Amino acid sequence: MNSCIFCQIVQKEIPAEILYEDDRLIVFRDIKPTAPVHLLFVPKKHIPTLMDLTEEDAQVIGHLHLVSTRLARELGLVGRGFRMVTNYEKDGGQLIYHLHYHFLGGRPLQWPPG
Ligand code: 5GP
Ligand code: ZN
Repeated sequence: MNSCIFCQIVQKEIPAEILYEDDRLIVFRDIKPTAPVHLLFVPKKHIPTLMDLTEEDAQVIGHLHLVSTRLARELGLVGRGFRMVTNYEKDGGQLIYHLHYHFLGGRPLQWPPG
């Protein structure tokens, strides 16, 4: 069994609250939300970090951003605001080594983050 927790969610081996899914991408709620809306946008392909992206991944990353605009509309966040962010390695606070983007909204978010 794949030990990567996000691959396990992709394979439906562990549950998640999924808001969107297609052949390349899955979006589910973070298990420990830090905002009223805290989603994780996860390419299904196991890409460990942002630095492992290759040219062949460019389409799925563009697609991921387009799906984020769709969900933002559905969640009533257009005009109000939200944040998409990815964490890379230790200083960035990356805990899960399967590339993902946090989508945060539903409250004013501080900038810069801590
Ligand atoms: P990172 O620090 O790697 O950018 O963030 C990983 C995120 O994944 C954290 O916000 C954490 O709460 C979330 N997370 C960790 N394990 C699980 C899980 O099993 N299910 C879900 N839905 N989220 C998880
Ligand atoms: Zn994985």
